[in-house]
Amino acid sequence: ADSAARPTMKPWIEAIHAYVPGKSKGSDGRELVKLSANENPHGCSLLAQEALADIANPALYPDPDSTALREALGAAHGIDPSRIVCGAGSGELLHGAVQAYAGPGDEVVCARYSFSLYPLLAAKVGASIVYADDDDHAPSVDALLAAVTDKTRVVLLDNPNNPVGTWLDRDEVARLHDGLPRDVLLVIDHAYVEYLAPGLDDGGMELAAQHDNVLVTRTFSKAFGLAGERIGWATGAPEIIGALNRLRGAFNVTAAGQRAALAAVRDMAFVRKSCEENLAARDAFERQIAALGNHGLRAKPSEANFVLVLFEGALSADAALEALAEGGYAVRHLPSQGLPHALRITIGTREQMGEIAAILANACEAAA
Ligand code: PMP
Repeated sequence: ADSAARPTMKPWIEAIHAYVPGKSKGSDGRELVKLSANENPHGCSLLAQEALADIANPALYPDPDSTALREALGAAHGIDPSRIVCGAGSGELLHGAVQAYAGPGDEVVCARYSFSLYPLLAAKVGASIVYADDDDHAPSVDALLAAVTDKTRVVLLDNPNNPVGTWLDRDEVARLHDGLPRDVLLVIDHAYVEYLAPGLDDGGMELAAQHDNVLVTRTFSKAFGLAGERIGWATGAPEIIGALNRLRGAFNVTAAGQRAALAAVRDMAFVRKSCEENLAARDAFERQIAALGNHGLRAKPSEANFVLVLFEGALSADAALEALAEGGYAVRHLPSQGLPHALRITIGTREQMGEIAAILANACEAAA
């Protein structure tokens, strides 16, 4: 046998830059308060905790179809469970959507600044990612529509958007859907939808119920506080759900994950409380950032559980990142995503956000 021979990785796989998650350690290896991955600082529902502690037999496979969870989600949202698929996080389902509808030579469109997983999903299937220009960092429907060509197969829209935090309202999302060719799949990623202020609704769930080219993905990782258990779900036309069922792992959601999510759906009071706390802490933090406007700091108005702070004065995002690490906080710097001048800061508790604002104020003074 030729001892020099080895398996050759597919070139489009070799070209992928693996997903880089938010970190919890400083450059010196010190453990920091992790406000870098948009997790819930209030944990998860007590009912979900109890469900996780419940005795189950780990020798047995979980329900491959997450039946009880899909039924509970269907009842909660008025959706037939056959139009719901559960995933190992919504990431698995986003992957499936791109895999099912895009391949080599095809194009996948997303906003210039959106979830950093999106370009990876396109790369994994050999498709090209096409970025739509932004409107001062925020996604723009006009730009998204202008980016569509006859090679476009999927448009990915995270609404609210990560990392900017802004959202597109019902009219804008409808305008995007109306403007797309009917053979393009519109994926509306609702990872942060629970955080929209009461009364706000982008109409995504209705579009997914009414049209056969819309998929909505949702997650238990954010407002439900179950990121560690990897549970997401998606809803759309039966054909799209069928595609995702073909592509997902056979036993993709663990038994513990299914139990926890089922309990979490029954405790919407926890989610409401988390979102109220988030709103209060975010509002206060946004005001504190606005007060540093004379130092060149500004925050995009966020509807999510994080804020993108832009550094346009003497204090650079790099220096602010260092100062925050020094003060014990890990936040997200995304230079590789074209945002060297910004930090995405997950909303922690009110106390934590007050501390962060004070650290930034001091760093501004020091840089002035
Ligand atoms: N969509 C967006 C916009 C996100 O920010 C995230 C998490 N960072 C996800 C989807 C994926 O979350 P999960 O796989 O945990 O459901």
